[in-house]
Amino acid sequence: MSTAETEPVSNYRKISQDLPQHVQLVAVSKTHPPEVIQQVYDAGQRVFGENKVQELTEKVPKLPSDIQWHLIGHLQTNKVKYIAQFIDTIQSVDSEKILLEISRQAAKYNRTIKVYLQIKIAAEETKYGLTKQEAQQLFRQYMEGNYPNIEITGLMGMASFTDDTDQIKTEFNSLKEIFDEFSLMKQLQTLSMGMSGDYQMAIACGSNSVRVGSAIFGSRQYDL
Ligand SMILES: *Cc1c(COP(=O)(O)O)cnc(C)c1O
Repeated sequence: MSTAETEPVSNYRKISQDLPQHVQLVAVSKTHPPEVIQQVYDAGQRVFGENKVQELTEKVPKLPSDIQWHLIGHLQTNKVKYIAQFIDTIQSVDSEKILLEISRQAAKYNRTIKVYLQIKIAAEETKYGLTKQEAQQLFRQYMEGNYPNIEITGLMGMASFTDDTDQIKTEFNSLKEIFDEFSLMKQLQTLSMGMSGDYQMAIACGSNSVRVGSAIFGSRQYDL
C-alpha cells in the first residue's frame, strides 16, 4: 500500500536537500511519537535528538538500532546510567561533575561517548551552559587525560530567543570564535548551533551541525 508522503517527511526532504554537504542534520524529535520518527528514518535520516532521558529511553527500544541518538537537553548526574549504553553524543555537557560521570558510566560498557561542551552565548538569563573560561578549564583537564571514556568532539550553543537578528548573529559569531580557539589546542569536528528559526544564519556563521525540530515535525505535541 502506498500512502501520501506525510508532512514531516516532506519537510525533512526539503530541509536535508537544501543543507550544504558539510552540515550535519540532527532531527529533534522530542514530544513526537516513535511512528513519526520512523517515517523520517525511512526517508533516510539517522541522527535524532531528544532532550529528556525518560522520553529517550522509552523511544529507543521502539525504533531501529542504528539510529545515532544525541541528547541535547540538560542532563542530571543520576540519569547518565540510563543512557550510557547506547547514547552516541551528549551535546549538553555543562559541568565537570557530569563529564566525570559520563566517563565513569561509559567505562562500564567499555565505550567512548562523544560529548560537546555547551557554551552559554545568549545574552538573556539562561540556566545552562559554561562560560568560555569554564569550558577552557574543562577542556584542559580533558587534554590531560582526566576523562578516558569520553571524547570531546564539539561545542554547542543556543542563541537568545529574540527577533533581533543582529544579536543572534553576534552570539553565533562568538561561539565560532571560541570553537576556532579550542581547535588550536585540539581539532574539534562539530560546531552545533542553529535551530528551526535560525539555522541558516548559524550555518553562515560557521555551524556545521544544526538541531532542527519544529521545522521538520511541526509544532510540539505538548509544552515542555
Ligand atoms: C528543542 C530544541 C531544539 C529544536 O528546536 P526547534 O526550534 O523546534 O527546531 C534545538 N536545540 C535544543 C537544545 C532544543 O532543546
